Amino acid sequence: MTGFDDVVRFHGHACPGLALGYRVSDLALRELSGRAEDEEMVAVVENNSCAVDALQAMTGCTFGKGNLFFKDYGKQVYTFIRRPSGDALRISVIWVSPPESDEEIEAWRRFSDGDRSEEVLKIVHSRKAGKIKAIMDAGDEELFAISRLRIEPPREARIYPSICCAVCDEKVMEPRARVKDGKIVCIPCAEGE
Ligand SMILES: [Zn+2]
Ligand SMILES: [Zn+2]
Repeated sequence: MTGFDDVVRFHGHACPGLALGYRVSDLALRELSGRAEDEEMVAVVENNSCAVDALQAMTGCTFGKGNLFFKDYGKQVYTFIRRPSGDALRISVIWVSPPESDEEIEAWRRFSDGDRSEEVLKIVHSRKAGKIKAIMDAGDEELFAISRLRIEPPREARIYPSICCAVCDEKVMEPRARVKDGKIVCIPCAEGE
C-alpha cells in the first residue's frame, strides 16, 4: 500500500493539493477494490494540479500507461472507471479550507511579495501543515460529494507504429503524423514551430 510519505517522495513536497489527491485515491481504491497494475482501472481527472500526482502514484492510473485521461476543465472532479464492468465512482471535492487569520493573510501577502524571512515562512508553513492535517483527518463526507455510476470505459491504449518525419527525420507515432506539401511530417514541422 502506497502511503502519504511515498506520495510526497514522488511529488517532491507535501502540500494540501497532494493530500486531497491522496484522500481521493484512497477512497477510490477502497470503493473500486485495488490499484491498476495494468489497465483494469481508468481515471479521468478534470485538472492538472498536485492532486493528480498522488492519484498516479497511488492508483496506478498513470499518464504513461494511457489509463489516465485529462480534461482541462479546472474542476476538482475525479472519476474512476473499472474495466470491463464500467462500474464508476465520481468524486467531487467539496472541502473548503478553514478561514485564514489576519496574521496568516498578512504573512501570505508578504510571502507573495518575496519576503522569505523566518517569521513569514514559519506562518506560511504552519498554515500549510494545518491544511494538510485537516484534509488527512476529515471524513470522506466532509471532503467529497460521491456518486456511483456506470460508464462505458474508454478503449485500452494502443501501440502504434512509428514513421519518420520527412522534415526533421525524428520518429512520430503514425496517427499523429500530418501531410504537408505531399510529405509526411510531425506536428511541430507541419505547424512550422
Ligand atoms: Zn504540490
Ligand atoms: Zn518533424
